[in-house]
Amino acid sequence: MKLAFFGADGKVGRALVPVLERAGHDVRGFEIGDSIDVRGLDAAIDFTSPDAAPANVRTALEQGVSCVVGTTGWDPHPLHELAAERGLRLLVAPNFSIGAVLMMGFAKQAAAYFPRSEIIELHNEAKKDAPSGTARMTAGLIGGDPVIHSVRLPGLVAHQEVIFGGEGELLTIRHDTTARESFASGVLLALEKLPELPPGLTVGLDAVLGR
Ligand code: NAP
Repeated sequence: MKLAFFGADGKVGRALVPVLERAGHDVRGFEIGDSIDVRGLDAAIDFTSPDAAPANVRTALEQGVSCVVGTTGWDPHPLHELAAERGLRLLVAPNFSIGAVLMMGFAKQAAAYFPRSEIIELHNEAKKDAPSGTARMTAGLIGGDPVIHSVRLPGLVAHQEVIFGGEGELLTIRHDTTARESFASGVLLALEKLPELPPGLTVGLDAVLGR
């Protein structure tokens, strides 16, 4: 596929672009200040910042290009209509790691049996939003508004624990991302399944897992 990558020089971009190219995709990188012309490309990918993503995605959709977005900390719902009316797909996933998606699924399963839980999410100190998009999505799946603790330290990549407390027992579900290449399998899967999604906004990688 011919792809645009917004944020190609960022931490995720530097890890993902080579993997996408090795998988046979032709990737055009965009950084801050580049004028955006993505007309004719098959899809645009955004891993930038909560300030930059809304305008990048809007421009790509206006130019007729479907989007796969990993940037967290912004609300994509206002762009649903634009995508839907143009017959385009907008897939936004707070976590493209397949292990993290499974962790969220297991947490949802456990929540049916444990009424109390808390979430600890740990990320590199450079992460701009807190709590993380993954923690927010996990909280939504668990329900009951669990407390979220956010840790930002050098040395961390992306990690999350969901701790369930019951009478005389604790259940901890933990996922660790040790390298940003872990997001590549989910992005490749999202690109492959994008045409099968309904036009408009889809949130979460689980929408394409098992399709
Ligand atoms: P990062 O290292 O700060 O990279 C972001 C890159 O985007 C930087 O190179 C930045 O340039 C660039 N950028 C900023 N505004 C731009 C614009 N308007 N157009 C094009 N490029 C622009 O951050 P990161 O760690 O790669 O993470 C990026 C985003 O992805 C964050 O929101 C993070 O939370 C999210 N994330 C999501 C997942 C997932 O699986 N969904 C996984 C990891 C991270 P400057 O450095 O010059 O500002």
